Amino acid sequence: MAKHDFYDVLGVARTASADEIKSAYRRLARQYHPDVSKEDPKVAEERFKEISEAYEVLANPDSRHRYDQGGAAAVESQFGPGGFNWQNFTHAGDLEDLLGSNPFFQQVFGGLGGFGARRGPGRGADIELTLRLPLTAALTGTKPQIEVPRDDPCTACRGTGAKDGTAIEVCSECNGSGQVRRVQSRGYTQLITVAECPKCHGMGRRIREPCPVCGGSGRQRGTERIEISVPPGAEDGMVLRVPGHGVHSGGPGGSGDLYVHLVFDPLPHIRRDGEDAYTETTLPLGTALLGGEVTIATIDGHAVLKIPAGTQPETQFRLRGSGFPRYRSGSRGDLIVTARVELPRHLSVSDREALREILLPGGRPVGARRESLFRRRGT
Ligand SMILES: [Zn+2]
Ligand SMILES: [Zn+2]
Repeated sequence: MAKHDFYDVLGVARTASADEIKSAYRRLARQYHPDVSKEDPKVAEERFKEISEAYEVLANPDSRHRYDQGGAAAVESQFGPGGFNWQNFTHAGDLEDLLGSNPFFQQVFGGLGGFGARRGPGRGADIELTLRLPLTAALTGTKPQIEVPRDDPCTACRGTGAKDGTAIEVCSECNGSGQVRRVQSRGYTQLITVAECPKCHGMGRRIREPCPVCGGSGRQRGTERIEISVPPGAEDGMVLRVPGHGVHSGGPGGSGDLYVHLVFDPLPHIRRDGEDAYTETTLPLGTALLGGEVTIATIDGHAVLKIPAGTQPETQFRLRGSGFPRYRSGSRGDLIVTARVELPRHLSVSDREALREILLPGGRPVGARRESLFRRRGT
């Protein structure tokens, strides 16, 4: 099926500014949003997805430029093999104020991380942490064990700090209000002050017997080891969500979520661009002229590259399938090797003569006079 023009989809001119594109998208999102639209929800979702795809491409100056140059085909590789899906959408934040609390919006984006609208009432806070990984981990995926610092309400006393959560009594000083009123008479006026109860420190309750598990603090601090799954093709900046491993609220709202931000350590010889990897190799002049083989360092090993005779400097060789895996697909990108050619810096006199015969037959090169003077004196 032929794709609609993304500018038409958003109803903006090709010269529209970033702000115009954004407000057009926000206007349409309100209109086509499945929970608001009068259309069949399935149709509405398709429309919403279509405008979101157009916005994803046009909101980014880089992909907008590529789209302007080469049309839809030029931005296709930005998304997975099945085309645009919600995982590819990075601008959920641009709608958060409009739709953040909307159930459809939460269902679509709740698993993707990036904003707080997913939090229900009474839920514990989310925990965010950063996980550093070697770049090679993006090849195969990995399941590292990570330590999550925890500071949850004590389960034994339900966060009260009192044994079993029941060894607690209403403060006799303030009758549970946590406040004490003092009335002072000064001449004809009465001064009433309200202050924190000194006996219960404003809690209104007094612990009769502290919880033996948490020592009365009501908190359980420590670490939790959990295994997380980093998929093949994971990229820098990707955020993995582990539901229910955030801070426990201590109440019926349950736990928040854990968000793990991935940071990949770069490799000195590899530059990554999505699924493709770039590297360089230096060819001796003879190999470039006559052909041969060179061994190059790949992402996680070595490969032998056949060099055809007459290879020009800056020639790029593409090793298909030697790049990074495509996220959520079995296939891999390419390793692109740029061949530099190294010219010899020093030549012996006889090499020079031989090369002159080959490269400059019958001609007198510039500087040849000085060359012959040198030879007469030196030999
Ligand atoms: Zn009190
Ligand atoms: Zn406790």
